[in-house]
Amino acid sequence: MNILIPNYYKEFHCIADKCKNSCCIGWEIDIDEKTLDFYENLKTPLGEKIRKSISRDGDAHFILGEGERCPFLESNGLCEIIRNMGEVATCDICRDHPRFRNFYEDFTEMGIGLCCEEVSRVILNFEKPFEMECLGGAEVFETTEEESQMLMLREEVFGILGNRKKSVSQRFNELSEMFAFSLREVFSEEVIKLYLSLERLDEGWTSYLERISIEGDMSFLDKPEFAKAFEQLATYFVFRHFSEGMYDESFRARIKFALSACIVIGAITMTEEDASVDTMADIARRFSSEVEYSEDNMENLLSHF
Ligand code: SF4
Repeated sequence: MNILIPNYYKEFHCIADKCKNSCCIGWEIDIDEKTLDFYENLKTPLGEKIRKSISRDGDAHFILGEGERCPFLESNGLCEIIRNMGEVATCDICRDHPRFRNFYEDFTEMGIGLCCEEVSRVILNFEKPFEMECLGGAEVFETTEEESQMLMLREEVFGILGNRKKSVSQRFNELSEMFAFSLREVFSEEVIKLYLSLERLDEGWTSYLERISIEGDMSFLDKPEFAKAFEQLATYFVFRHFSEGMYDESFRARIKFALSACIVIGAITMTEEDASVDTMADIARRFSSEVEYSEDNMENLLSHF
């Protein structure tokens, strides 16, 4: 298979028991058919325990325990299934998370999702400009007419965002001009109200949104210590969401979303006592979990933009 990855991809390794916001808490874990079959035929005490922890209500999934923890997440932060049988015994979703894919005719782009605290830390602290690398398969791919057009347009967007000779606000303004909107359209009272109206994963997210002040000049975008983090963040959102614009002509809305996301994350970060890149990475993780990982919320935002 022809696979392309961003140059920061290989920097990511799950930090397992060191993770403060484990993906084994709070998310429903669906069990794929092959793994379900394996669990059904596992003649061990752990196999018995696994079968008792599966709900067949809708797609097969683990019944979460107290505090919405996966029943196999041990108090030391390790996974009981991996500890006993290795990673091969886990569901596809557990092995795959936090990866995502953009599919094309002849190749696939694979990225890592910002809802994971380690991914967020890696991306926002990554120094080198964003580039794609070939993970496997051919070096040259066939593309359809639609894909070529999208990829060319996206390259132009990456070029603007990655131009380190300009300040972040200059780059964001240049991009908004290219897509015929003003930055104020993506960071207004109306937009913050929209974020506030979206469905919640964690009610605590509301208090972060309520701290945002849209007054002021967005000068925080040009704080030099955040320049690379904003660049990587904006590039991530474009890399992840822009290509789908091929199917519904929503390129403009997707650029608006990418810039709005960066400005909202930046504005919240500045309200924190310790407004560092690591703090920004934590806010970006929360934003991603609340917004990006909810299809309804993404649909809602894109239809607004
Ligand atoms: S959120 Fe990321 S670092 Fe934490 S347990 Fe999940 S994959 Fe590992």
